[in-house]
Amino acid sequence: MINKIFPGLYKLEIPLPGNPLKTINSYLIKGEGKNLLIDTGMNRPECKKAFDQAVQELSVDLHKTDILITNFHADHVGLISYLKSSDSRIYGSEADTKMLNFFTASNGSQYWNDLAAFAVQNGFLEGKQAIISHPGFKYSGPDNVEFEIVEDGLTIEIGGFSLKCILTPGHTRGHLCLYDADKQVLFSGDHILADITPNIALFASTYNPLQDYLQSLDKVYDLAVKLTLPSHRSIIYDHQERIMELKKHHQLRCQEIIRMLEYGPANAYDIASMMTWDLKYYQWDEFPLPQKWFAIGEVIAHLKYLNEKGEVLKYDGDGVTLFSL
Ligand SMILES: [Zn+2]
Repeated sequence: MINKIFPGLYKLEIPLPGNPLKTINSYLIKGEGKNLLIDTGMNRPECKKAFDQAVQELSVDLHKTDILITNFHADHVGLISYLKSSDSRIYGSEADTKMLNFFTASNGSQYWNDLAAFAVQNGFLEGKQAIISHPGFKYSGPDNVEFEIVEDGLTIEIGGFSLKCILTPGHTRGHLCLYDADKQVLFSGDHILADITPNIALFASTYNPLQDYLQSLDKVYDLAVKLTLPSHRSIIYDHQERIMELKKHHQLRCQEIIRMLEYGPANAYDIASMMTWDLKYYQWDEFPLPQKWFAIGEVIAHLKYLNEKGEVLKYDGDGVTLFSL
C-alpha cells in the first residue's frame, strides 16, 4: 500500500507475511534529481512484488535512487541487492554495515554458531533450531554491498530534504534516525515505534543495549518534531509522549524481573518464560522458537542493564548463566 505523506514523500507499506511485525514502512523521497529509499523489506517474493508495484505506480527510476538503511535487520536490508542500480549510493552506519557484511561473508556461520552457544548458556536448549528459523538467517542476503558510511551528524541533501543522520544505538548498535529540521520530520526507524515497543535485545555479552537505547531516546527527545515516521505500524504525532511511554515500559520490565528474582536465582530462559508478553499466544509453550529467542534476548538486555547498575548479580552455574538479587 502506498500513502502520500506530503508532496515528494511516500510511505510504502511492505508486507512481512507470518511475521508479528506484519509490515515494514519504507519511505520514498522522490526528488527532481535523485530519490532516496529508506529501508527495503525482506528478501522474499511478497516484498519484491510490493516494491515492483510501487516502482511502477510512482514511476521511480531506480538508476536515480539511493538507498539508506536505518538498521541491519533482515526486514530493512533484504532487498538492497534487488533494488539497487549501478548508480545507487547505499548508506548505512559503520556498526550496522559491519554486522551485515559479517553475516553475509563466509564466516557468518561463525556468528550463528556463537549465537547458538550463547542461547544454550542462557538456558535456551533449543537455541540452535531457533536460530536456523531466524528471519535474519532465512531472509537477509544482500550480496556484498558497497556502503557509504554515515557518521553521526552528517547531512544528506536529497529531493528537497536536508536529512541529518542521528546515530541512535539500542535496537542495533548502529541504528540511524534521520531528521529534517525545517520540515520537522523524524524518520525514526525502529528507534521509536507507536503500537509496539522496539525490540531491545542482547545476543552477546559485550555491551549494554538497554542503556544505549535509553540514552538514544534522550538524544532525540528535544528535537522539534511534528511527524515521526517509524519503520513499523502507525505514524507518531507526539514523539515526546511516546518516548516517555517507552522509558516507562522498560522501567516496568526491570521491576518485573526483580520481583521474579525475589523467589531465587534464575537463568534468562526461565525468567522469559514467566514474564508477560504482548503476543497473541496464550502461553510460553506456544511461542514459535524465533519469538522465544527474541523474548530471551530482551530479558538478557534488561538483566545486563540491572547487573551494570548493581541491582542484579550474575554468575556461572554449571554451563548456564544465573542471575540473582
Ligand atoms: Zn524493523
